[in-house]
Amino acid sequence: MMYGGGGGGWSWGMNRPYRSREEQAKVELTAAGVRRVLGYLVPYWPHEVVILICVLAMTGLGLIPPLLMRGAIDTAIPDKDFGLLNWLVIGMVALPFLSGLIGVLQSYLNALVGQRIVYDLRKQLFRHMQRMSLRFFTKTRSGEIISRINNDVAGVQSVIAGTVISIITNIFTVVGTIAVLFVMNWQLALVALIVTPAFVLPTRRVGRYRREVSRETQEKQADLSAFLHEMMNISGYLLMRTFSGEQRADTRFRGIGRDLLRLNIKQAMVGRWFFMFLGLFASIGPAAIYWYGGRQVMQDSLSIGTIIAFVMYLRNLYGPSSQLANIYVDVQGAMALFDRIFGYLDMEPEIFDTPDAREVASVEGRISFDDVWFRYNDEAAWALAGITFTAEPGEMIALVGPSGAGKTTLTYLIPRLYDPVNGQVRLDDYDLRDLQYLSLMRHVGVVTQEPFLFHTSLRENLLYANPDATEADVIEAAKAAQIHDFIEGLPEKYGTVVGERGFRLSGGEKQRVAIARVFLKNPRIIILDEATSSLDSQSEELIQQALNTLRQGRTSFVIAHRLSTVRAADRILVLDEGRAVESGTHEELLAKGGLYAKLHSIQFRTEPEPATDTEVSDGGPRMPPSARGRRPAGRAMPGFERSGPFGGEPD
Ligand code: ADP
Repeated sequence: MMYGGGGGGWSWGMNRPYRSREEQAKVELTAAGVRRVLGYLVPYWPHEVVILICVLAMTGLGLIPPLLMRGAIDTAIPDKDFGLLNWLVIGMVALPFLSGLIGVLQSYLNALVGQRIVYDLRKQLFRHMQRMSLRFFTKTRSGEIISRINNDVAGVQSVIAGTVISIITNIFTVVGTIAVLFVMNWQLALVALIVTPAFVLPTRRVGRYRREVSRETQEKQADLSAFLHEMMNISGYLLMRTFSGEQRADTRFRGIGRDLLRLNIKQAMVGRWFFMFLGLFASIGPAAIYWYGGRQVMQDSLSIGTIIAFVMYLRNLYGPSSQLANIYVDVQGAMALFDRIFGYLDMEPEIFDTPDAREVASVEGRISFDDVWFRYNDEAAWALAGITFTAEPGEMIALVGPSGAGKTTLTYLIPRLYDPVNGQVRLDDYDLRDLQYLSLMRHVGVVTQEPFLFHTSLRENLLYANPDATEADVIEAAKAAQIHDFIEGLPEKYGTVVGERGFRLSGGEKQRVAIARVFLKNPRIIILDEATSSLDSQSEELIQQALNTLRQGRTSFVIAHRLSTVRAADRILVLDEGRAVESGTHEELLAKGGLYAKLHSIQFRTEPEPATDTEVSDGGPRMPPSARGRRPAGRAMPGFERSGPFGGEPD
């Protein structure tokens, strides 16, 4: 069930949004996968060509300074050539400066291309998520979706800059350096290269271990966030307080905290070992060059300048080649990231327009169910089993039945939140699946039990239904929904900010705002899920009045929890375990003495039949405080009740 009472799915943050190590290892580097990733790079090829030129130029410039040094030591200084020395020294400063300038341009282009790709992906992902069905959102933790759109996509930027560009730069640098070394002195070049594997192999191991630790830390961090996300909100807090969960929460929090502490220290220390190895091996190379080269100098077969230049080149060789040693891990990490994003992009939206779907401009508003069967998945029991009925234009159908009977599910099929597994739902004479989804939605308005309000002004919240509505339209709708007087009494009237951190409206007020929204949208068909949670009598009266006005001239489906509603309905459809077991008016069904009569008699034991046409407005006579208080538990039909102790708030 979608509305699972407060904090229903308390998982202690154990459902990680991150993939396990096994799952991550499964990410294979396939040609198709790489091609798909490269596909995102293609639109920016002119930028990338410039980046490539920058990388080449910088690598080339980086190869020159050791040669200048050699020139100074071997030629300019021994020959006492001041002019040459001046030029060489100018070159030693000018080249890094030039290279730095190119570096700035390259960083700009890197950021530009990276962020453009992030933007493209995020846009694509967001649009795709909007097209996903309700089923997807009931099955996926919202934190996970947000994490993919935010973190995973943002990670793409560093993959582009950190992986793709650095691989290219490193390959150029290593190849260029080796070439220059061999041209200068092939024996010394061999000495330099022999040390390289000794240098590359350990860093490779350490690199892998470092990644391992950092991944573990990241997962623990995600655990901590998920845990805090569950605890630091109203529902989680209420559950903890009312079930004395402080101790358990504390223990769990301390557990995660301790793990994080340990992992963070480990991560810092792995870094230290890594740099110690780097330092060690970085000194072996030059030592070998001085030892072997020094002997050649003594035999007059090599110049001192060449040895110095060689040692300088070693830096160009060892750093980049050790980074290249980790190339596979890097690329795999990048692919895992893309894999998570593609995983979402590849999910097929369940509900989409067929190519020949038609647009319906105006409708009469007849809704018919023709032997409709529906279940939430192949293993689940049928939530709707062979439902057949027709709601004529303008009719009001009340849906009643015990909790879990299928009332909500039935209303989900009308705005095509789900499609039937078998059978047809029709609007006028069209199967809903043959209509363009957007054009269908123009004709259907929905008011849920706990309507969602954006954290913005009431005006904006109302205009969501129809952005072109005028102020007069908004006020008219609010009046019809019996919420205008209330809004006028607020400090900033229609400008009052409501929602999560704004002014808190009661359940009844929220429903009336939602009804006003539907007035503004003005659809032919409306669906209303009456609030089961306790409403004071006045609020209830106002909702009834609003509803009575709203349903005029519209086909309406009301999941009924109130006697006044069922009495007003043209027809009551009684559902039980997915089947339509009875259908008729209030009087007919009472006379029949079936399930409806039974549910009704339970209600009547605690509630005298109220008059349905009493006029009560905000300015009208006030109820005594006791009568205005929360509705006693027995007030709503007990068999119809389904919310937990914290009302029917969506998870
Ligand atoms: P009602 O509105 O009458 O209380 P529902 O239509 O919500 O009943 O539920 C009908 C049946 O479908 C119930 O057995 C319920 O557990 C099941 N159900 C509802 N939503 C889901 C879901 N998202 N996934 C699986 N089963 C569901």
